[in-house]
Amino acid sequence: MKRPDEPTSCQHCGALTFPDARHCARCGRFPIKLHQCPICRTIAGIEEEYCPKCGRMFEPGGDLFS
Ligand SMILES: [Zn+2]
Ligand SMILES: [Zn+2]
Repeated sequence: MKRPDEPTSCQHCGALTFPDARHCARCGRFPIKLHQCPICRTIAGIEEEYCPKCGRMFEPGGDLFS
């Protein structure tokens, strides 16, 4: 279910980026919306419902990494 290394596409330019990438390698913008766990600071994909590290439930549409 969880594939943290699966590449995804930058929402700005379409370049492949990885879920833990801070900036798109092509356009330099933040590639995608991500959750950041407020407890352990783990970054997770926006589609994740729970922190993969500590299991905290993310707020839908909240707890966004920025
Ligand atoms: Zn980009
Ligand atoms: Zn966590």
